Amino acid sequence: MINAAFAVLSGDAGGVAEPEQVDVVVVGLGVGGEEVAGRLAESGLSVVGVERDLVGGECPYWGCIPSKMMIRAANALAEARRIDGLAGSAQVRPDWAPVARRIREEATDTWNDRAAVDRFVGRGGRFVRGSGRLDGPGRVRVGDQLFEARYGVVIGTGTRPSVPPVEGLAGTPYWTNHHAIEVEELPGSLLVLGGGAIGLELSQVFARFGVRVTIVEALDRVLAVEEPEASEAAASALRADGVEVHTGVRAERVDHDGERFSLRAHGGAEFTAERLLVVTGRRAHLDELGLEAVGVDADQRYLPVDDRMRVADGIWAVGDVTGEGAFTHIAMYQAAIVIADVLDRARHARPGADPSGTASVVGGAMGAASALGASGSSGTAGTVPRADYRALPRVTFTDPEIGAVGLTEEQARSRGINVQVGFSKLGESTRGWIHRVGDEGFIKLIADADEGVLIGATSAGPAGGEVLSGLVVAVHAAVPLSQLRHMIYAYPTFHRAIEDALRNLR
Ligand SMILES: Cc1cc2nc3c(=O)[nH]c(=O)nc-3n(C[C@H](O)[C@H](O)[C@H](O)COP(=O)(O)OP(=O)(O)OC[C@H]3O[C@@H](n4cnc5c(N)ncnc54)[C@H](O)[C@@H]3O)c2cc1C
Repeated sequence: MINAAFAVLSGDAGGVAEPEQVDVVVVGLGVGGEEVAGRLAESGLSVVGVERDLVGGECPYWGCIPSKMMIRAANALAEARRIDGLAGSAQVRPDWAPVARRIREEATDTWNDRAAVDRFVGRGGRFVRGSGRLDGPGRVRVGDQLFEARYGVVIGTGTRPSVPPVEGLAGTPYWTNHHAIEVEELPGSLLVLGGGAIGLELSQVFARFGVRVTIVEALDRVLAVEEPEASEAAASALRADGVEVHTGVRAERVDHDGERFSLRAHGGAEFTAERLLVVTGRRAHLDELGLEAVGVDADQRYLPVDDRMRVADGIWAVGDVTGEGAFTHIAMYQAAIVIADVLDRARHARPGADPSGTASVVGGAMGAASALGASGSSGTAGTVPRADYRALPRVTFTDPEIGAVGLTEEQARSRGINVQVGFSKLGESTRGWIHRVGDEGFIKLIADADEGVLIGATSAGPAGGEVLSGLVVAVHAAVPLSQLRHMIYAYPTFHRAIEDALRNLR
């Protein structure tokens, strides 16, 4: 933690006009930044929100929302194909046009953020389009505008796709998630480099719409951060959809002859397709933020934060840039903490150091800080809640959906915990048996035998992400196993498989 006390500028801004005094500057208005900036502005602070692309960031335009619209459509096709043997017969003719239209018109307004900008301004914020860069403690430069923030700067600049250094790749017209989401006409074939959650979700969508999809993953299993059973469930579901899944295959060279991509792998295997989608992870670009001006090392993968999201005194970070989990729900969770901490700082600021006279307004915002503090059920200190990622939920929206929370078995064992594992197959539950086709899935529970609580769980199945919610509560609140065993699970639900897995804990 460094001390970045805010000095008053003394006309040394390199020919730039005097800095404009504001309360808070938020750089990057993605999910996290937009929430922080909007809520602080509503609380009466003078807030400048800086965004160089689209307000809302990755999630509404190229991430969660359009990808889940695609998945909804692809799953409808899959369900229709399951009619045979259950309810008669159905002929399915996929058509991408309504999906592309829905993404364009309903989700993204043709990748236009005017509604989001208006919303922010309507909440009392001041919007500045451009790239923000720190220019000293409390100072942010956007082009030739310079702002000096009285209470602090919040960095919510997210991540961008990380492209591996594969020979030849950089000069080719490969796709990132942006191209995959914006596509109007599907290619005949697609190579997907990377078998993480995003690669798997998009692969299954395109395969269900008739694209010949091949996944190439360097690690020895897809979805490698989750349980091996989850990797197996995802890989076999994708194969059932016609996707070729190659694991343990390291890309060595990529070529594009003007029409087709070819990818040569270590060992000589070669793959070709019309399009190549690169989804090998994401990376924060700290070098663009001017962090050296505030004494923070920019040569890191992410911006490390403490449990109040503080990077340094008067600098907070929120969302993907913190490296605590690339999920919208993490950005929102962290945003609540930042908001409470900034309001707390504003509340404690001496009225004499408040030239714009916002002290009284800030007094009104105190309630919001206290309310936030009071709402934290755990990890709360004083009025500001502290971040606690023990029960971080993760959902891969493949079919079957794979939900997970807390530690995997391997993570728990590597920490020396006295681990018990419980497993049950959805297909062996009453609901799974009724469901029949499409009932693939399982529950895997990881318990700390000494503490008698769950510390991790995976829930795969037709509603894996929804079933997960009970398991998240169990891990978050450290509900004793004895209580989980003696509660009532509705019959015949998918979540009754949790009871079976609890019975199998050993
Ligand atoms: C295909 C895909 C599917 C996903 N699906 C899910 C899902 O189902 N569930 C889920 O929880 N998460 C999902 N995610 C992840 C989710 O989108 C991110 O976790 C979320 O967007 C992170 O929000 P953020 O505010 O940290 O960053 P971002 O949304 O990345 O926003 C950062 C913003 O900062 C701006 N910016 C960067 N640098 C500057 C600068 N110097 N000055 C001004 N502006 C700047 C950028 O233009 C951007 O708008 C998905 C992601 C992808 C790619």
